[in-house]
Amino acid sequence: MQRWSNWSGKVTARPAAIHFVKSETDAVALAAATARAGSTIRSVGTAHSHYPLVPTDGTIVDVSGLSGVISIDADAKRARVRAGTAIHALGLPLLDAGLGLLNQGDIDRQTIAGATATGTHGTGVTLQNISATVTGLSIATADGDLVRASEDDNREVWTAARHHLGAFGIVTDLELQLRDAYRVRETGWNATLDETLETLAEIVHAHRHFEFFWFPTADNAVIKATDETDDPAEYPIADEGNRCAWSHEVLSNSRTWPHSEMEYAVPLEAGPDCLAAIRDLLRREAPEMPFPIEYRTLAADDVWLSVAYERPTATLSLHMDARQDDEPLFRAAEAVFSDFDGRPHWGKVHYRTGADMASLHPRWDDWWDARDTLDPNGVFLNDALRNLRDR
Ligand SMILES: Cc1cc2nc3c(=O)[nH]c(=O)nc-3n(C[C@H](O)[C@H](O)[C@H](O)COP(=O)(O)OP(=O)(O)OC[C@H]3O[C@@H](n4cnc5c(N)ncnc54)[C@H](O)[C@@H]3O)c2cc1C
Repeated sequence: MQRWSNWSGKVTARPAAIHFVKSETDAVALAAATARAGSTIRSVGTAHSHYPLVPTDGTIVDVSGLSGVISIDADAKRARVRAGTAIHALGLPLLDAGLGLLNQGDIDRQTIAGATATGTHGTGVTLQNISATVTGLSIATADGDLVRASEDDNREVWTAARHHLGAFGIVTDLELQLRDAYRVRETGWNATLDETLETLAEIVHAHRHFEFFWFPTADNAVIKATDETDDPAEYPIADEGNRCAWSHEVLSNSRTWPHSEMEYAVPLEAGPDCLAAIRDLLRREAPEMPFPIEYRTLAADDVWLSVAYERPTATLSLHMDARQDDEPLFRAAEAVFSDFDGRPHWGKVHYRTGADMASLHPRWDDWWDARDTLDPNGVFLNDALRNLRDR
């Protein structure tokens, strides 16, 4: 029996074994051997997920060593990268090829397989999450195959597995849609929440990226708007809120404070009212709340399990210190988000049932059918996913 825990230390497991795979061949062999033994296996990247996607009493396979860029197609603006590649490790090789990621999340420590598994996103009303940029992927499956899936090849697998939750097999590489390399300039300012809410519905459309962290007790929103620029990069790089440099140098940040997080995605137009409702909740239930609420936006997509499936989206996150009991406040916040038809982030804390998820995700059954076809015996499921499937 081994011990495993996630980034915050709040999600733990006692797996029978932890394996580290560093080659596609080993991933295929491990997946096949696990299936033959009638056991279960869950992949892990950098363990940044707050939802118990990884815990299993079977095998945990750490794929972070299967890393690096395989090839870059500069004409198609696409790159094929090994699954365990950290997002930050893509910045320089892509820039050298004149390319960049379409968007990035708040941090860049995650693996590309882990980030695509849960629909990791940044901010911007015209920008989709990272799963929507997956143009192909390779998966080591339960029957010992390496399935390659893309728009042209095994399309039904690609359609579902762009947002895979680690449930189709061990992903060994992914192909990503990119764009020409670009520089961005950030502008940061502070305001109260009332001031922010007054212009929020319009201002999110005025910038490529717009977001803020609102600190309820101080009633101070730390706001950031980021746009493309032709200005030269400015080094040494300034503090967050004042940077001007290549996209991979600016869009993600350093967030080292151990916390847990709940994030919900609501229809874009409902975002300001939902935030006002969360403020009312905090005034009632947590007047001393010292931790920030993050507000971002996300373009609609066609990715089956995406929180932005066919709907322009605003996302709202609550953070709590990892040493605290987050459940009472997160459950109360979840009730507010549910009133706004919110869909929970797949990698963050939520308490929704499979029946809830089925009603929130129109392609829920299609996703499970595609998954179950590839893994009928549930080799790549754990308790959390099985509970959701079985409702
Ligand atoms: C500090 C912090 C900041 C964050 N910022 C953002 C943000 O800005 N935007 C956002 O949307 N989310 C954010 N997240 C959430 C995070 O991006 C997701 O939880 C993401 O899935 C974590 O990636 P990971 O590599 O750590 O994957 P893990 O948490 O290790 O795994 C996530 C899922 O991927 C699967 N998986 C991993 N590798 C493979 C593989 N090779 N094959 C098959 N399945 C695999 C796992 O089984 C699991 O289901 C943040 C989390 C933290 C802790």
